[in-house]
Order: sequence, then C-alpha cells, then structure tokens
Amino acid sequence: MKQVIIIGYGPAGISAAIYLKRAGVEPLVIGKDFGALEGYSDLIENYYGFSKPIEGKKLIQEGIDQAKRLGIEIIQDAVISLKIDDIGFLVVTSKHRYHAKSVLLSTGKTRTTLNIPGFNKFRGKGISMCATCDGYFYRKKKLAIVGCGAYMLHELEYLNRISQDVTIFTHGNQLNADIEQKIISDPIVSFKGNEKVTHIETTQGMYEVDGVFIALGVPSSVDFASQLGVIVEKNNLVVDEDYQTNVEGLFAAGDIIGGKLQIAKAVYDGMEAADSIYQYLKNK
Ligand SMILES: Cc1cc2nc3c(=O)[nH]c(=O)nc-3n(C[C@H](O)[C@H](O)[C@H](O)COP(=O)(O)OP(=O)(O)OC[C@H]3O[C@@H](n4cnc5c(N)ncnc54)[C@H](O)[C@@H]3O)c2cc1C
Repeated sequence: MKQVIIIGYGPAGISAAIYLKRAGVEPLVIGKDFGALEGYSDLIENYYGFSKPIEGKKLIQEGIDQAKRLGIEIIQDAVISLKIDDIGFLVVTSKHRYHAKSVLLSTGKTRTTLNIPGFNKFRGKGISMCATCDGYFYRKKKLAIVGCGAYMLHELEYLNRISQDVTIFTHGNQLNADIEQKIISDPIVSFKGNEKVTHIETTQGMYEVDGVFIALGVPSSVDFASQLGVIVEKNNLVVDEDYQTNVEGLFAAGDIIGGKLQIAKAVYDGMEAADSIYQYLKNK
C-alpha cells in the first residue's frame, strides 16, 4: 500500500513529489509522456531561473531527473482506471495495479492539434497552442482563435484583453457559448503564408490573420476522474482550498484544475497540494 500515488510527471506532479519526499513521505509517480509539451519543440522563456530559453521537453526532463536524484520512485506507464475499493484507491495502469491511501491527479490537459495543411508548417510561426504563453507577441494584431468550447473561451478571455480584433473559427463545430464575437463556422481548409501564417482558408473564403491560437483541447483525464464522481466544471476538476476534490483523499493540481495554464502556476499548485496531502496522511 503506497501512501500517495501521483499521476502525471509534469511540473505539478514533480513539484508535489519533491515537497512530499522532503517532508518524509514516499510518493510513487506515474506518468506516460511529456504532457502538455509532448511532441513540441517550443522554447520556454517565461519560467524562472534560465538565462537562455529552454526547450519545453528539456525542462520537463530536468524535473524528472531532479526527482530521481532525490530518490523518488518514478514509473513510465499509462493509468487506465482509478477506483476506490475496500483497501483504498486502486490505480490500474497498462502494466500493474497499485493501492494507495491518497492520490494526486496532475494529469494536465489534452490539447488537440489539427490535421490541416499548413498547421505543422506554421506552428510556432504565427500558429500558437497557448494564448497566455504567446499572446503578448500579438498585441493589437488581427487574431484568430480556433475552438468552440470551454477551453476556447478561457483563451479568448485573454486574447480579448490584448486585441480588439479576434475572430472565432469553430472549424465546422457548433459553438457552445453565447458571446458577442465575430464567428466563422465553416470548416478550415488550410493555413497559408510565407515565413509566417498570413491567411486562414475555409470552405467559404479567405481570411487575413497575424496570429492563430488553437484551443480545441478536451482534458481526457477528466474522464477517469469522473469515474469517481469528482465534480467537474468547465472541464476543470473542482478542488477546495486544500487542493482536495470532493472525493476524500483525492487531490488535484496543475492545468487539470484550471486557472492559468502555465508552468509557474502548476509548480505552485504541486507545492500546495503536497502540503495538504502531508497533513491528510498525518491525520489518517
Ligand atoms: C505548445 C505549448 C507551449 C507552452 N508554452 C509555455 C510557456 O512558454 N510557458 C509556460 O509557463 N507554460 C507553457 N505551456 C503550458 C505548460 O506546458 C503547462 O501549463 C504545464 O505543463 C502544466 O503542467 P501540469 O503538470 O499540470 O501538466 P502537464 O505538463 O501536461 O503534465 C501532465 C502529466 O500527466 C501525465 N498523464 C496524463 N494522463 C495520464 C494517464 N492517463 N496516465 C499516466 N500519466 C498521465 C502526462 O504524461 C504528464 O506527465 C505551454 C503549453 C503548450 C501546449
């Protein structure tokens, strides 16, 4: 029986693991990939402590290596189910089954990409996956946001603060919101440009843009959290001030609980959640 299993070895999970270990708790950390930054070569420029921009994947790997150096047990595996039985939390992965007194969900958010001509070519060249990360470079520009649900609204709120010219492209999907904003609902056919993206071509027309923000993500982790009846609002797990969900002993931190989708915030969440888990285990 583990004291705590941390699902996810991104910034939130690793930060929590480090604080728990130093408090004398032995966490088991299970992660399947580099999370939000998997498959991307984006450079991180806004996180403390790096004099030069660092590749996102390198930053995540540094965190994993730091935890391993401290003797924290880290396993690469995918969690496929999370249940409660008469022993405690039952975490089922593709290879093993583990029991734990408490669980921290730090599984991030899945951000969907687009299988559209020009998407890969202009990713990082006018096409961004993160408004809070890159929006600053597009102040007062002509912007497009591609999405239709809660994640799109989250990113739109930020973009509307930096530009008065933001158009929503739903890419043929139904818009799940009642908002006053310019909306193009035709499917996107391609992204066009030279060095950088300059136009979005849809089935009905061609639209000039300076920047495109993709916000089509649906957090898959919410699916298995829902198996336990965790309260979910706008695709975020709801936690109290101790980062505990409505299920006793089940905590959550990082992108999965919403707010700013940023590394600094995920690291902070992890630290706070670790403190609460420590207190929870002490009182058990
Ligand atoms: C393209 C891009 C660029 C970004 N640039 C910046 C930036 O410049 N600055 C910044 O501060 N932030 C940036 N971000 C945001 C930042 O990456 C996230 O806010 C941060 O990584 C969130 O940390 P997290 O620990 O909550 O989740 P993640 O980093 O997403 O980690 C989630 C972890 O959960 C694991 N996991 C998920 N499901 C399972 C499962 N079923 N079983 C096992 N493991 C699972 C994953 O494998 C991963 O280890 C960017 C994001 C993207 C997508």
